[in-house]
Amino acid sequence: MRREYAYHWKKAAAELLFPRRLCACCGAESPEDILCPDCRAAQENLRPCPTCASFLLFTKPAGYRCATCRRQERPFHLARAALPYEGLLRERLRAFKYDGATGQRRYLVPLLVESYFRFFTVFPIDTLLPVPLSAGASGSAATTTRR
Ligand SMILES: [Zn+2]
Ligand SMILES: [Zn+2]
Repeated sequence: MRREYAYHWKKAAAELLFPRRLCACCGAESPEDILCPDCRAAQENLRPCPTCASFLLFTKPAGYRCATCRRQERPFHLARAALPYEGLLRERLRAFKYDGATGQRRYLVPLLVESYFRFFTVFPIDTLLPVPLSAGASGSAATTTRR
């Protein structure tokens, strides 16, 4: 029992001193990059909609807009996201925003910085706005229920 306890303590100390780097998107070990090679390759097969932050496959012609942007005019000139809002990355973002899991910043900040250099060195930024959160924005079913 005592030996087992010491093992866990040493393992925890090793994690603290030499943390494993995990892929922000899928959680696979990724010591060299914030994204593992598979997720990096998947990211490179996507391009953003010319207007909004939706991602489209590179097989679509240049200038092709997403279905929402083709259907309605957007109230902004350009919006961008680091990666599609799905899977583990979606969970990380939601945990950071709604559950106070500030440790997720170790995955989110590198993606934010990468996104800035990918998109906004080409397009100048006029205004940077925080997107406010509300208690009703937690995504619960109650927020969409009609009377
Ligand atoms: Zn990955
Ligand atoms: Zn769009």
